[in-house]
Amino acid sequence: MAKPHDHSEINVDLSAPCAHVRPDTITHVHRPPPGCEDCMKIGGQWVHLRICLTCGHQACCDSSPNRHATAHFKATKHPIVTSGEVGETWAWCYADEQALSS
Ligand SMILES: [Zn+2]
Ligand SMILES: [Zn+2]
Ligand SMILES: [Zn+2]
Repeated sequence: MAKPHDHSEINVDLSAPCAHVRPDTITHVHRPPPGCEDCMKIGGQWVHLRICLTCGHQACCDSSPNRHATAHFKATKHPIVTSGEVGETWAWCYADEQALSS
C-alpha cells in the first residue's frame, strides 16, 4: 500500500496559474510515477511521464510512441499535467497551451 505522506511526494510549481487551476487541482505528486498506465496495459514503451492534475492519471509524453498524456486530455478534457520526471516540477495547461510555472 502507498503511504499517504511519502517523502517522494513533491510540490507542483503552479506559480503562474491559469484559470483552470482549481481548489481541488492536485498539487503534490510522486516522482517518478510507476509508469504509463495505458502503455502498461498494452505492453507499450514510453520516454517521459506526465501526471494529470485533475485525476492523477500517469501517462506518456509526446516524445513517446503512443502520446497517452495528450490522448488523456483529448478524451477527458482534464487540462493540466505536470512532469513525472524526478527533479522537474513544471506544469502545463493543454487548454491554454501555456506553462504554469514562472
Ligand atoms: Zn489553463
Ligand atoms: Zn503511454
Ligand atoms: Zn485526468
